[in-house]
Amino acid sequence: MGKPQKVAALLEKRQKIEKEIEELQNLCNHSMKSLKSVRERVDSSSPVIRWVCNECSKIIGYPSSEELNKFFRE
Ligand SMILES: [Zn+2]
Repeated sequence: MGKPQKVAALLEKRQKIEKEIEELQNLCNHSMKSLKSVRERVDSSSPVIRWVCNECSKIIGYPSSEELNKFFRE
């Protein structure tokens, strides 16, 4: 397989995977969350601290400064 075909196949695969993740996240009720260091986007260089659902890994909220302090102390 040539490079362009390979890239096209991978992009198609990624799109399918992203859609599958999105469907799972839409079905989730995000009942359990944890503060985690995450990258908000694939191309962002530095991680940020966010509330992330334990079940589906969706970013569901921003921590308050108090919660951030607690996170870094632990
Ligand atoms: Zn969830």
